[in-house]
Amino acid sequence: MSGHVAIIGAGPGDPGLLTLRGAALLGEADVIVHDRLVSDEVLALAPQAERIDVGKMPGGVSASQSAINATLVELGLAGKRVVRVKGGDPYIFGRGSEERAACLAAGVAVEVVPGITSAIAGPASVGIPVTERGIARSCAIVTARTGDGAPEQALPFDALAAMDTVVVLMGRERLGDIVAGLLRSGRSPETPAALIERATWLEERAVRGTLASIEAIAKHAAIEAPAVLVIGTVARERDDRRDRRPLEGRRIVVTRPAGACRDLVARLRALGAGVLHAPLIAMHPLRPAPALPELGAYRWIVLTSLHGVAGFAAAIEAAGLDGRSLHALRIAAVGPRTARELRERTGLRADLVPSEHRAHRLVEAIGREARPGERVLFPCGTLAREETAAGLRGIGLAVDEWRVYATERVSPSDRVLQAIRTGVDAVLLYSPSAVEALAGATDSVGAAHLICVGPTTADAVRRAGLGVPSVAASYGDDGVIDRLHELLGQQIAAERGIA
Ligand code: SAH
Repeated sequence: MSGHVAIIGAGPGDPGLLTLRGAALLGEADVIVHDRLVSDEVLALAPQAERIDVGKMPGGVSASQSAINATLVELGLAGKRVVRVKGGDPYIFGRGSEERAACLAAGVAVEVVPGITSAIAGPASVGIPVTERGIARSCAIVTARTGDGAPEQALPFDALAAMDTVVVLMGRERLGDIVAGLLRSGRSPETPAALIERATWLEERAVRGTLASIEAIAKHAAIEAPAVLVIGTVARERDDRRDRRPLEGRRIVVTRPAGACRDLVARLRALGAGVLHAPLIAMHPLRPAPALPELGAYRWIVLTSLHGVAGFAAAIEAAGLDGRSLHALRIAAVGPRTARELRERTGLRADLVPSEHRAHRLVEAIGREARPGERVLFPCGTLAREETAAGLRGIGLAVDEWRVYATERVSPSDRVLQAIRTGVDAVLLYSPSAVEALAGATDSVGAAHLICVGPTTADAVRRAGLGVPSVAASYGDDGVIDRLHELLGQQIAAERGIA
């Protein structure tokens, strides 16, 4: 039995720039073999797969090409579905053809899935087209390196100087030589040039200048690899600031668990923001699913989260029951999303959803219908610090907290901390546990606005001394996006010269 190796291009970093075929293969992979240029967000599409990082093998050295080839062949022969993930496109300075040949030679089936190369996506990310009607009808993509020990050779500068656009990959260290070579071959020192670092990542930075000035400008801004250099008239400054998308250039960290914020992340990216999705809490269903309590004892079931709904649904399923056994229960849901989730998972309709998604509104709404002493079943997480339970007890109800999922704080990675310290515009926080996870790792959030969904989370920010919280206008994504526009709008307008 032999497996299958798929060599896929991951694109420049933003997971939205991965092909559908690449995403599907990641979702089915047994093992992924990747290097440093592949972003965490892309790797997150294969949570089930074992990961081998060949850009950072034990001992801190990167694996040699022959060792990588051997790894792919070995895994393929062992019958695994292997996905070899490469930054950009596998055939643009990616050695994809060597890995493909090694697999074929060993009798391992192999497929190559193209990706969007940073040579095109990098310039595009800052509004530079590599070709443009009337301005550039030729474009060369070159690397400043020859690779694996082969003696470095000079680039064919005479030929390059005749191209309209020149894009250089792996050129950061040799920037001076490249500039000198093009100037010697007759390219004008006034030719526009741009250097884009970590294009399409949250950390993206770019500098612009001319062939004569770009080296000094890059040095001054401390631009580092990975960076794409683009030289040619196409790289000129354009006055398109007013036309940019509403949140373009803003950097936002979203700390909600995966799944719960997919829509929000997509909307923020569509508005032009750079988004780093870094969950600070994780939820796991409890295994085995907790047994369903004796339902006859309860008058109410109160659902305040999607995970609570999932746990409740799993317990009903595990008990071999369906909605008919719940006919005597009144069901309250904190908001429309929770109610919709309940309906999708169990077919049950909530009897009561408060007009505003707030714990105290839920308590008030239940208070209008319940009689003192009635019993309430409340599915919640292991870290719950529940204002809802306290509120319901406050109006004379008997509440049983039923732990149906585990909540865990997740420490932010170095990348996330670095991003926050070097100045993201906003961090979105959804629960006191997330605030604690952040406060446990840093006492400064730079100039970031801390946007809290709900007053309890805002209180946690104040308690932790992290800064002045800003509370979203409502619990849904609209409330968060409105608050972002309010907080960042003025600054964006000023930068773009819009009165
Ligand atoms: N196969 C890749 C290129 C691999 S060579 C592709 O098609 O994009 C590695 C070089 O690619 C880096 O040194 C840098 O020049 C460039 N690069 C890759 N990803 C980049 C990114 N997100 N931003 C800027 N440059 C990037």
